[in-house]
Amino acid sequence: MSAEYRTPRCPYCGFTVFNPRYPKCEKCGEQLPESMVLSKEALTAVLEQERRERERKQRSAGSGTASSGSDLDTISDITDGLLDAFDGLSDLDL
Ligand SMILES: [Zn+2]
Repeated sequence: MSAEYRTPRCPYCGFTVFNPRYPKCEKCGEQLPESMVLSKEALTAVLEQERRERERKQRSAGSGTASSGSDLDTISDITDGLLDAFDGLSDLDL
């Protein structure tokens, strides 16, 4: 039984949760159980790392936006929303 339970699914609508860093179901918007998503600490670490990588890429890329387009913008929006959702995270300056 537990072997079948590899992919977390939203308990409300059954949507497969591909993105454990997002605390809400991407389909129905319900808050997911904490066991299904990253902890605040883990999320902070992931977001900080991605933000640094993105800044590094933007710096090395120089001018222009990312070639692959809207995916990056979407991720960026989600990240910003999450940072707003957790008090103090945006003050991190590691
Ligand atoms: Zn859902």
